[in-house]
Amino acid sequence: MTLDATEKARILMEALPYIKRYHGRTVVVKYGGAAMDDPALRASFASDIVLMRYVGMNPVVVHGGGQQISAQITRLGGTPSFVGGYRVTTAEDLEVVRMVLVGVINKDIVSLVNQHGTLAAGLSGEDGRLIVVRHKTHPEGDLGFVGEVERVNPGIVTDLLRDFIPVIASLGVDTEGQVHNVNADEVAAAVAESLGAEKLVYLTNVPGILDARGKTIEQLGADQAAELRASGAVGAGMIPKLSSALDAIKGGVPRVTILDGRLEHALLLEIFTDTGVGTMVTP
Ligand code: ADP
Ligand code: MG
Repeated sequence: MTLDATEKARILMEALPYIKRYHGRTVVVKYGGAAMDDPALRASFASDIVLMRYVGMNPVVVHGGGQQISAQITRLGGTPSFVGGYRVTTAEDLEVVRMVLVGVINKDIVSLVNQHGTLAAGLSGEDGRLIVVRHKTHPEGDLGFVGEVERVNPGIVTDLLRDFIPVIASLGVDTEGQVHNVNADEVAAAVAESLGAEKLVYLTNVPGILDARGKTIEQLGADQAAELRASGAVGAGMIPKLSSALDAIKGGVPRVTILDGRLEHALLLEIFTDTGVGTMVTP
């Protein structure tokens, strides 16, 4: 397909209302799923984030890395364990979690973005006591060093945002300073809320939230979400995404989307065009 000049101009102009809406505003992107594994998708993600920054938005990236953590635990001779679908983090696991999230994944993302310039800086929820957590309890057993977000001290992120794209690894500290593993979806929502973000986007490896028949739900409100959960259609990885998406909406984030990160430039299309892809979560 070749576009003539008029068509190219039309497409560029389609972005104008979105550039205006988000100018100077914060957009939090939870980076996960396929977009994190595939080299072409990783590059397309990085360039989308860079474009957002250069047109005047304040993108903030939050990431986890469950798959890489499991792989590294196995490589070191351990066995990843789960209770009721939730990862258990033992004291030994915690060292691996920190190594993989902060030392490998976070720096990989920073380097990827910085191929475009001096743009990104990495940190974890430990830095500046960004993410303060309490011990997470689960009725089916102890999860070890897993936290749920109690409070966000966004100072370090707002400072960084003046000059950089912050890239945040999903760890937190309790009030005693003990580090905990935290679900990255929850961190993304809490960070978006504390920054007064204009938008929160979850990049994942499905077309959006799927209903019981496997069809993508275009828009989902709190009532419908409760029904969907009760029907059993929401499984493991989508549970924290859906509940933190609803928390973010309740906490004042006006736009929350769950997006298919397997599509090249999914983020670009979502932010700059009228093409709605994925599931929009509404109040
Ligand atoms: P991420 O890295 O994006 O956090 P997860 O594996 O944690 O990825 O979460 C996404 C996964 O949630 C999907 O791959 C899918 O298997 C699962 N899932 C469970 N229920 C649903 C649902 N109703 N709609 C979409 N995905 C779902
Ligand atoms: Mg997940």
